[in-house]
Amino acid sequence: MPDAGAAAPRAWPPEGCALVTGGSRGIGAAIARGLAADGWAVAVGYHSGAEAADRVVDEITRAGGRAVAVAGDVAAPDAPERVFEAAESALGGPVLALVNNAGITRDNLTPSLTDEEWEAVIDTNLTAAFRFTRRALKGMMRARTGRIVNIASVSGLRANPGQSNYAAAKAGLVQFTRTAAVEVARRGVTINAVAPGFIATDMTAELIGPELLAAIPAKRAGTPEEVAACVRFLVSQQAGYVTGAVLTVDGGLAA
Ligand code: NDP
Repeated sequence: MPDAGAAAPRAWPPEGCALVTGGSRGIGAAIARGLAADGWAVAVGYHSGAEAADRVVDEITRAGGRAVAVAGDVAAPDAPERVFEAAESALGGPVLALVNNAGITRDNLTPSLTDEEWEAVIDTNLTAAFRFTRRALKGMMRARTGRIVNIASVSGLRANPGQSNYAAAKAGLVQFTRTAAVEVARRGVTINAVAPGFIATDMTAELIGPELLAAIPAKRAGTPEEVAACVRFLVSQQAGYVTGAVLTVDGGLAA
């Protein structure tokens, strides 16, 4: 195959850092540890779990990597500016890998769903990802390289009763990903989504039982590390031609 259009080889990870929102627990913590193992200096975003975030930073540091914990409620309009400033000044260089992972559920059937439950989920899972992406693109477009991965969900691809707010946010995140990806593709920046199925974390601790597991073709829940493996690939240099993609990690649930 001719490679005339291929990006010129460059050092990888590039000079800059990675930011994982919601890096203190669950899937985000596994992603933060994984990106650090791949050589990234990692900002571990958190909201309420300062101790958990510090533990992730300690693990990374003890393994020989570089990390810093960065506080902020992603749903706050000024969060991107404050979080990027803290991450970039502590680790040096621009954020060149962003993982929009922070997310919440407020499950309820639609007739009973409150405005607060709707807004909290849309603000945290969708609007925050837009604002963090917009902020990240400044430095990435200047550097002419960057990787953004948005953590969506199979609930954004197929119906899951009780999650109309979460489904709307995650489906919105998928189409935001595709559209933003084509806007910046020529600048060497890729934007992709990973859509996990049921992953064993605090978020699903009360949901995962025998009935649910029976409905998953793989007959088990996934692990945070299995989601992190996909994110690590999408952030890698080898994934430079993958953009606007949605990768399901769900044991076959959405197949
Ligand atoms: P957890 O509930 O285990 O962890 C959530 C993380 O998000 C925590 O680090 C938390 O930080 C952070 N967070 C929550 N709200 C905010 C906020 N307002 N500002 C900043 N950080 C915040 O979730 P999971 O690891 O299970 O989920 C991670 C992502 O994966 C989410 O986007 C979720 O929707 C998605 N997902 C999860 C699935 C699953 O089965 N677990 C399936 C499909 C998608 P802190 O504790 O410091 O407040």
